[in-house]
Amino acid sequence: MDIKVVDDLLANINIVDVIRHYIPLKKAGSNYKALCPFHDEKTPSFNVSERKQIYKCFGCGVSGNAVSFVRDYEKLSFWESVRKVAALTGFVLPEDKRTDRKSSKTELLFQAYQLTKKHFQENLSQYGANALRYLEDRGISEATQKEFEFGYALNSYNGLHNYLLKNFANKEILRESGLFGSNDRGIYDLFRDRLMIPIHTATGRTVAFGGRKMDPDQPGGKYINSPTTQIYTKGNELYGLNVTKYNIGRKNDFVLVSEGYLDMLRLYEHGFINSVASLGTALTPQQISLLGRYTKNVYIIYDGDAAGIKAAIKAAGEAAKLGYGSRIVEMPMGEDPDSFLMKEGKDALQERIDNAKKLCEYFKGEETLGVSKREKVKYLTGLAQEMSNDIDRDLYLNEVAENFEISVNSLFSELRLKKNKGGGKVNNQYKSEKYDEEKWLLKKLMDEPDLIEDVVMKIDASFFLEAEYRQIFETLVKHAGEFQQVSTLEMAVVPEVWARMSEILLMAEPEADIEVYMRDMKLRRYKNEREDLRRQLAHNELTKDSLNHLRVLNRKIRELSGRESVKLMFN
Ligand code: ZN
Repeated sequence: MDIKVVDDLLANINIVDVIRHYIPLKKAGSNYKALCPFHDEKTPSFNVSERKQIYKCFGCGVSGNAVSFVRDYEKLSFWESVRKVAALTGFVLPEDKRTDRKSSKTELLFQAYQLTKKHFQENLSQYGANALRYLEDRGISEATQKEFEFGYALNSYNGLHNYLLKNFANKEILRESGLFGSNDRGIYDLFRDRLMIPIHTATGRTVAFGGRKMDPDQPGGKYINSPTTQIYTKGNELYGLNVTKYNIGRKNDFVLVSEGYLDMLRLYEHGFINSVASLGTALTPQQISLLGRYTKNVYIIYDGDAAGIKAAIKAAGEAAKLGYGSRIVEMPMGEDPDSFLMKEGKDALQERIDNAKKLCEYFKGEETLGVSKREKVKYLTGLAQEMSNDIDRDLYLNEVAENFEISVNSLFSELRLKKNKGGGKVNNQYKSEKYDEEKWLLKKLMDEPDLIEDVVMKIDASFFLEAEYRQIFETLVKHAGEFQQVSTLEMAVVPEVWARMSEILLMAEPEADIEVYMRDMKLRRYKNEREDLRRQLAHNELTKDSLNHLRVLNRKIRELSGRESVKLMFN
């Protein structure tokens, strides 16, 4: 993404307003304080600096700008959080100003679905007596109906179509909305006389519907589901996540993934508020990655029949490939989470969750599918082939070996994996040293980015010995002139470097002049070089060139030392 877009946003909004939208902030001196939303604490160590437009928690170390706060609090993607911050503050993003045909079409589709959902909801209370009766029979509470925004599609061939035309009017969009079918007599409503269950994205936009028939004599399947549209791809969304995402990962560091709407709602009503439904038996890699924003522990709770068991093994396998911890919650034969909870209750399910098995262990003991031990091992070992992380793969293969009592070496040789890929480690020799003058110089540059242009004429990145400080310097130089808000650079660096940057941003003003810090850095570098040359001299390795170099260094050092040094600790 264009750094300028984000910078423009950050420079025109106030982080305090954004964070206040989520948690209460208290003024403390020139900053604001709060209980950290990212870790448990009793006394506030979460600080928001209005001046620097960043937040930082001195308890757990998190820090960032308004966009990264929303990203981490709501677990959104970067783009989603940029849009959210813009929406919260009324800032108009440049791409929204453009009348891009594709994006405006998407927007019109979103609007059509929003209107449709509203229409269905109104129908439910006015004309949906049989739908309400159905819900009552199934024991779905009124609160849940409201929370998940249930509705009712009229028993009419064009009720929705007429309603949308009245409120909306873009016929072309309606044709592509997936809400209507057409035959020789014209366009007709796809959903008729059905209980309507809206499907949302994680950010809460309605993108599809599931329509449940209530009368068994009604034609058509038990469910009619929205087709793929420009805003909906089956297998990309998870049912219920827009509601339950706030409960996943904070208090409960796992998610329960069930198959269907009713399973999910039943789980939710019984207090298993960290649940979602995969809608269809195959949990896709997209869905697993989406869950990964909230937790890396995926508990599969599918139907207790052959199809459900197969799907659960496959789902847990997909999660394992991505290095997630996955477990399978066993259902008795013939039961699903919905029926099980109705019969056995909450505690019985909790016990099953507590005893959920890892994929290897579960598959080893699975007998109903008639898969041989050899085939099981082959399948499980095959999953390792697709793991991208070496440590995850090693741990996983050890687990397979242990469960099936075979040597891990034979698994490796089956995979023909090179065990030691040997990734180059970053040189950490400077880590323990403190290069304060580098930090102070960066502080000056962050406070007054206008100085960067002048400073790069006098000093370059090679004068920074601390790797992270050097990266910060390079980032500042690279984006000089592109940003008004230093906090924008959060998006341009890795988290470790940003953590350093936020520390520096919040430091008190350095006392000395910027020239002093540059001088000290140069001095240290020249003295180091001189030291090297002298060592060579001791071994009679000096050439004429290096002798000249030594002379130049001596002169430079003499010149620089003429001025008072701010610190003498660097030699
Ligand atoms: Zn914290």
